[in-house]
Formats: sequence, C-alpha cells, structure tokens
Amino acid sequence: MNYKLSYYQEKLDSETLKNEFIFYLKEKLFFNDKDIYLNKDRELSVEEQNLIQDFIEKKKEGIPLDYILNTSKFYENDFYVDSRVLIPRPETEILVDYINNNFSSSLKVLDAGTGSGCIGISIALKNPNFDVYGSDYSIDSLNVAATNKKTLDPKNFSLIHANWLSCFEKNSFDLIVSNPPYISDQDPHLSNLMHEPNKALVSSDDGLGDIKLIVDQSTKVLKNDGILILEHGYDQQNEVTDIFKSNHFSNISTLKDFQSLPRITLGIFKS
Ligand code: GLN
Repeated sequence: MNYKLSYYQEKLDSETLKNEFIFYLKEKLFFNDKDIYLNKDRELSVEEQNLIQDFIEKKKEGIPLDYILNTSKFYENDFYVDSRVLIPRPETEILVDYINNNFSSSLKVLDAGTGSGCIGISIALKNPNFDVYGSDYSIDSLNVAATNKKTLDPKNFSLIHANWLSCFEKNSFDLIVSNPPYISDQDPHLSNLMHEPNKALVSSDDGLGDIKLIVDQSTKVLKNDGILILEHGYDQQNEVTDIFKSNHFSNISTLKDFQSLPRITLGIFKS
C-alpha cells in the first residue's frame, strides 16, 4: 500500500510535531516546500514511507529530533549527537559568546565535561590563537567529541580522558569552562529528559556536587588570575556564588539566560 504524505500529516496531533516532521522531511528525505505543500497527494515510495514510519515510531517513544537526525545546531555549526551525549542547549551558547567576546590574548582553555565537544570546539574555531582542551570521564562522550573534532576540524582542540580536573598539573589553564551536570535527582523536569544520559544531567547534593568538585579542583589547576565559568541551574546562583567565594574567587558575576534567569557564574581566581 502506497500512502501519500497527507495521510501521515493528518496523523500528527501537535504543532510541534508537525514542525518537526517538516524539518525531518527536508533534512532526511530532502523534500522541498513543493513536495511538502503542493505535491502532498503524490504516492510515496516504499523507502520514503519507511523513513517516515521510523520518524513516527521514534517520536512516539519521545526521542528528541536531534537524536533522530543525529545532528544539533550549536553556535555556528552542526554537531553530531546521539544518545551518548547531551543535546547542546541554546543557553550554553551564551557562555561561548561571552568567551568569544571578552578574551583575545592567547589563552590555554579547558572545557571540562565536553560531551559532544560543542563548547570547546566552538571556542577553538572562533579563537585560533587559543589552545583548547576538552575533557570527559565518559569514553562514549569522547568518541562523539572526536567525531565532531574530525568533521569541524579545529586545529587547536585536543581531547583528554579525565575525571574532572584531578589529572592536571598546577597552573595549567588561564580559563576553565564547564556545563556540568547540575540537576537534582528529585527534579521533576528529569522525566522530560529520559533519553539523554543521566550522568550528564544529574548531580548529587541537590545538583551541586559536581560544581563543588570543579570549583575546588580548579583552584589547583588555574593560573593566578585565571577564570572559571560555569553553567548552573536557574535557582543555584546564590549557592554557586558562595562556593566561588569560599574558594578564593573574586569579581564574581552571573550572566542571565534568554529567559532572564541566572544561568552562568564566573569569577577570577586569586591564589
Ligand atoms: N559540554 C557539553 C554541553 O554543554 C556537555 C555537558 C554535559 O554533559 N553536562 O552540551
């Protein structure tokens, strides 16, 4: 039985799903507007129907579109993603933007917990004079980041297997940036994120466990006057600021996200 596109379009029950379907048809089946809007009563090939069926089944399971297409737009590039890594978030682009706009001298930079590599690779591409490292404890993540390194080809980005900052020597970095796991295991939002790796999302101690570790360890590996920039939960600004303060950081400030929620805290380390 050869169905038509309109048959599938009518089955989609939300605007979001309809929009995602159009995006999928363009990206995966290379349909253009004419195929989608004008020729929707043409009979589809078996191959086209199989691809559409695959989309419908994966969406029924709640799989995010970026995983279905294995690609995610972040900053100025398309990153390969799959369920081994977090899908890059628009909030995190604010962090990358901040770094790109505020530093110009040659810096040695670490993206701790690099996941897909989105932060480190984006910074490396924009700042060829920086020496950028992306670290992760998960070999799965490092494999995904290696795929992105190969495709996007930053010349100044290297990957390192590391448990946060424990393996680095004193005075190693001018700048450490991280989007660590910061969600509490009790957070109700987690049920919407079940397809993404739990380890990349959840942290102990009400979501602050990894942040505490990173701030503490950063004081051993940052140079004097080095900078630490961390993404965190919208309700963690006060706690994160206190953690920075009690670890010899000064000039602490917090940047807001697109919804005007406090999302990124930074400070200068004074040894
Ligand atoms: N640095 C990656 C990102 O921002 C991964 C973050 C994570 O896994 N917590 O998407």
